[in-house]
Amino acid sequence: MNQVFNFNAGPAGLPSEVMLEVQEEILDLQGTGLSILEISHRSKEYEAINDESQQLLKQLLQISSEYEVLFLQGGASTQFAMVPMNFLTAGRVGSYVHSGTWSGKAIAEALKIGETAIAASSEEDQFKKMPDLQHMKLHPKTAYVHLTTNETIAGTQFQSFTNTGEIPLIADMSSDILSRSFDASNFSLIYAGAQKNLGASGVVIVIVKRDMLNRVSAHIPDIMNYRVHANSGSLYNTPPVFGVYLVNLMLKWIRNNGGVKAIERRNQLKADLLYSTIDESGGFYMGLADPQSRSTMNVTFGISSDDLEKKFLQEAAQHGFVGLKGHRDAGHLRASIYNAVTFEQCKALTDFMADFQKRFG
Ligand code: PMP
Repeated sequence: MNQVFNFNAGPAGLPSEVMLEVQEEILDLQGTGLSILEISHRSKEYEAINDESQQLLKQLLQISSEYEVLFLQGGASTQFAMVPMNFLTAGRVGSYVHSGTWSGKAIAEALKIGETAIAASSEEDQFKKMPDLQHMKLHPKTAYVHLTTNETIAGTQFQSFTNTGEIPLIADMSSDILSRSFDASNFSLIYAGAQKNLGASGVVIVIVKRDMLNRVSAHIPDIMNYRVHANSGSLYNTPPVFGVYLVNLMLKWIRNNGGVKAIERRNQLKADLLYSTIDESGGFYMGLADPQSRSTMNVTFGISSDDLEKKFLQEAAQHGFVGLKGHRDAGHLRASIYNAVTFEQCKALTDFMADFQKRFG
């Protein structure tokens, strides 16, 4: 097998240990003689996976017993709609922090459900940095504040959060969940698609404070209702069984690799290596995000000429580097360095970048 270095933005690289474990178990899950692909979601085996995954996630993020963990389908995009459907009731306002493409999509969906307001925005800075959370303007009828912790396309990330007191704080953590530690008790609801740091596409994780469930609007379909999913332990309908199984393996992988704090240190070293290669290139490589808001997950950068960027991508592909083309809306280059990407893989990339500069700089 050719060596491939996977810098895709999501679905993204998975640890080889986890994939080997899947391979080993695919025909016989824990001695049952059945595959994970063919067991019932009502079986005791799946119940154990579902329960253990909830517990592991709570332990790793130090989440108190006041929260429910749900495993749902439809990706983070469905959460853009579910959040306002559940909590944006008549006469209330959904206050959104606008930080780029993904917050924009969340706002667009909320606008179809009810009234929204922009609590803070970095649109004037072309979303090169994250908005200032310390000077948010909150509408007096705010039902919740919504923010996106990491903007996957622009490569920006909040370095710290704010406490909104009595007002529920809701976060899309799709592209940085479990990459760093944070105080989960500040948040009333967190959601994240699994396909970056936590497994494969098909499952979205929702962590919701139980008191939020009493606020759920009565006039929405059951399948969109957080309370219905919480009351049935994420078994209201057939869950994404294989996806939750992969999440389970990924959570154990994070635990076995020292937990979130150790993963965070590793992620910081990886990001520092890439950003220092960019910053020390004398302007050959240019970071696209404001240094104060740089993401440790998605490193966006460019080279001064389009032709050189094309050449860079061509040569990178020949060397086995995959997924370095920037998102179609942003152009340029992007290296996504989620939890499963190793320091050694980042080092191989920065060595390639240094060599490319030597030849074309
Ligand atoms: N939010 C963020 C921050 C994302 O990066 C993405 C996907 N890249 C989404 C939401 C949408 O996720 P999905 O495709 O799972 O609906």
